[in-house]
Amino acid sequence: MHLSKLDRSRAATALVARNARVTAASDPVEVRRLVLNITGPGERHYEGQALGIAVARDGRETFRLYTIAEVTPVPGDGGIDLALYVRRCGGPVSDYLCDRAPGDVVTVHGPYDYRFRLPMDRRSNLVMIGAGSGVAPFRALVHKAYESRVDWKGKVRIYYGPTTGVETIYNNEPGDIGQYFDRRTFRAMDALKTRRSIPGSHEPGRGLAENLAELWDLVLDPDTYVYLVGTPAHVAALDTAMAGAAGGEDAWTRAKDALARRNHWAELLFD
Ligand SMILES: Cc1cc2nc3c(=O)[nH]c(=O)nc-3n(C[C@H](O)[C@H](O)[C@H](O)COP(=O)(O)OP(=O)(O)OC[C@H]3O[C@@H](n4cnc5c(N)ncnc54)[C@H](O)[C@@H]3O)c2cc1C
Repeated sequence: MHLSKLDRSRAATALVARNARVTAASDPVEVRRLVLNITGPGERHYEGQALGIAVARDGRETFRLYTIAEVTPVPGDGGIDLALYVRRCGGPVSDYLCDRAPGDVVTVHGPYDYRFRLPMDRRSNLVMIGAGSGVAPFRALVHKAYESRVDWKGKVRIYYGPTTGVETIYNNEPGDIGQYFDRRTFRAMDALKTRRSIPGSHEPGRGLAENLAELWDLVLDPDTYVYLVGTPAHVAALDTAMAGAAGGEDAWTRAKDALARRNHWAELLFD
């Protein structure tokens, strides 16, 4: 699924009620919590859905999604407050949102339902790949696993990186608020990060080659589900890297196709 396929005719005007930095001023990573207020009749909003924001910069329009972290009705028909956590990445949309001041008006599209489904079988392996998007797109999936109150038995891997998306394995360290954004997400990720779930992930010197080899082992397991977010260029870079790990392009293509046929491969692409 490509973000350009999303229906953007459903749009609302939101008032920025609050915009506060949640990372320390001295932290090079800037994460902000924005509260957007929407009044009047319209769509119902739920936590875990995403809002779409479009921004034009340098003659090009960019459309990105942001997860609704909290939904709070405002008494006296003050509409609803929707809280988002946004990490400033230097790109057009995160800059635009981080720079909004209370009282500003923002056009939001959607809401869009979360597209990644959690497998019914808790022994399934979950592999999340954030290629050029960080791990934010997987917050809602991790919340679902946490809220289902099961001890997840399968292996869980969250990879992210700027080129293939598997340069780094995400370990959810307490100081890594720039990735998990809020305590609730930290707790949810921590619950999945059991010793059994991520053996060897703290190995010193672990890097791209180890991650590619591990991903190849995982995709050969019929119980693995892969969730990928990135651009078509990221997917092409991952395909090339995985063809190397698999011993050939054909082997990787066959393995990926087998996952897709069983609905074990879900991707969300953007440009
Ligand atoms: C379903 C879904 C839900 C999402 N929810 C959230 C959310 O709640 N909060 C949020 O902040 N983002 C979220 N994202 C990511 C968000 O949509 C954008 O990708 C991100 O804000 C960058 O957009 P941009 O236009 O600012 O920069 P872009 O032009 O897209 O990217 C600029 C640069 O920043 C890099 N980059 C992008 N994201 C990150 C990141 N997280 N960490 C480090 N580098 C990055 C890119 O690789 C690129 O080099 C979500 C994405 C999806 C698909």
